[in-house]
Amino acid sequence: MKCRKCGEKASVNMRQHKLALCRDHFLEWLPEQTERFIQKYSMFVRGDRILVAVSGGKDSLSLWDLLISLGYRADGLYLGLGIDGGIQYSDNSHRLARKFAEEKGLVLHVVDVEREYGEPIPVLADISRRGYGKPCAVCGLTKRHVMNRVARDLGYDVLATGHNLDDEAAVLFGNTLQWSGEYLLRQGPVLPGVPGMAKKVKPLCRFYEREMAAYAILRGIEYIYEECPYAAGSTSIYYKEVLNRMEHEHPGTKLNFYLRFLDARQRGLFSQHESMSPELHACTECGQPTSAPGLCSFCRMLRKATPAFEAVSE
Ligand code: SF4
Ligand code: ZN
Repeated sequence: MKCRKCGEKASVNMRQHKLALCRDHFLEWLPEQTERFIQKYSMFVRGDRILVAVSGGKDSLSLWDLLISLGYRADGLYLGLGIDGGIQYSDNSHRLARKFAEEKGLVLHVVDVEREYGEPIPVLADISRRGYGKPCAVCGLTKRHVMNRVARDLGYDVLATGHNLDDEAAVLFGNTLQWSGEYLLRQGPVLPGVPGMAKKVKPLCRFYEREMAAYAILRGIEYIYEECPYAAGSTSIYYKEVLNRMEHEHPGTKLNFYLRFLDARQRGLFSQHESMSPELHACTECGQPTSAPGLCSFCRMLRKATPAFEAVSE
């Protein structure tokens, strides 16, 4: 397979675009495309302060690398979840995020969940009994809360996450199987900000996971290879496998699925759900927007999990 641009040996073959590129041309193509998507979806402009949620994995570190290379002002935010799983998952991912930031002289904010809220994620999930055997629900709730809090408190214009097309297609697949109109309405490259809630963007949402892995490797980015130990057996991994089987037989399936969804949404396919969006109230504890008056789900979880937190905060 030869590079379409120079005829040298190709390093990356993207069957969905019928495009094979050598190392150098791939490393030129991917940032150009990222810039195109940032502009196409009006994610942010140069001079905006961007907060990148960094997990130590290939997608988030590559996103940070791309934004800096493209001349954007981007700082990182790492959340210490306190997950070990026999592979020191959190320690290793923190080490790699820190290493990346130090080597490039970038600002990395760190929030350690245990230090901040009394317990690490698996314990918070256990004692708040919201885990259903896995801490993912509590983990997701905590990540959303903390990322938004840091973005808001430190005055960032936008919060960027490293979701790639495989992630987005799997979420879309799940939401479509359930016909969750409300979630479908909110899924996309940009989630506009509302008072108290930062604007969220996903600049990598049109790149396949394997392209992001290729980018990280070709750029020499050291990232954590292991998935979070709690990810094993999740429905999103199952959906990814199903979609990959389809992709294998019909290259472009995942990309078409996602892009046609965005088109349909723009044409108003789910607009009836807009009028059903609940009115937002400020949480009486943390001030973040919530659909019901009183405490937001994160503060409710925290009260249940750490009565001491309740006593302290009252
Ligand atoms: Fe959190 Fe791990 Fe679950 Fe992901 S898989 S939501 S990082 S606990
Ligand atoms: Zn709250």
